[in-house]
Amino acid sequence: MFSNAPGKSLNEYVKDYVVFDLETTGISCSFDEVIEISAVKVVNETVVDEFSTLVNPGRHIPEEASDVNGITDDMVKNAPGFKPVLKEFVDFVGELPLVGHNINSFDMKFIYRDLNKFFGMTISNDYIDTLKISRAYLKELKHHRLVDLASYYGIDTTGAHRALNDCRMNQKIFFCLSGEMTEEKKNEKGIITCPKCGSVMVQRTGVYGPFYGCSGYPVCKFTKNIKATDTPKTGKKSDCAGKSSAKKPSATSGFTFEDDSDGGLPWMCNGVRVK
Ligand SMILES: [Zn+2]
Repeated sequence: MFSNAPGKSLNEYVKDYVVFDLETTGISCSFDEVIEISAVKVVNETVVDEFSTLVNPGRHIPEEASDVNGITDDMVKNAPGFKPVLKEFVDFVGELPLVGHNINSFDMKFIYRDLNKFFGMTISNDYIDTLKISRAYLKELKHHRLVDLASYYGIDTTGAHRALNDCRMNQKIFFCLSGEMTEEKKNEKGIITCPKCGSVMVQRTGVYGPFYGCSGYPVCKFTKNIKATDTPKTGKKSDCAGKSSAKKPSATSGFTFEDDSDGGLPWMCNGVRVK
């Protein structure tokens, strides 16, 4: 829904949402353009509608992009520009939360940028990043790309990297991920979530010793003392503390943070697109 203030990132499973995906001319949200947008509307865990269109970016699509998504200049030459498509997308989404893979650092940035460019507005819909959820709840997986999760859950990956196929795939993945987020599963894996924002609590080392801090920092500053009963039953419980103690606590926050990126890749828009 058009608005003056953007929505917030949620860390929970919802049954009503729109999962969406963009294909672009490249990975920079400063210089690249959208060439395809697709969305799948889900109500009460059931797919009820789909939205998909190619977009004419008004510029050449680099070969590297075409190699990934198979979309060429020729395919988009008669497609509409992104302005009318974006308006249609906002109408399609309505008030539902958005879901997508790596949308916090990729897709939402393109959407916000172009809403501002074309309409001087933003959208107030909250959004859920399945990459963030996967990294928090499936720590046992080495890679968290959409195709990695699909193969983990036995979901068909035919036609991956085209927006609508990725949306359909991610809708199934989001449903599977809900099974990782139950209290029972969290207890089994020793995962503690923040009561304020739902992000996973991670062990940090501060000037007074180890404690749990919300991984949503700095947006959420919730912390929790470590009790013997909190000790994870499985997983790498000493890993965080060990790595943190090697770093100096920062002067402003009093504690240090783990790099939560995948394999050292930057967790930012102009980094690597984790799709
Ligand atoms: Zn929090």
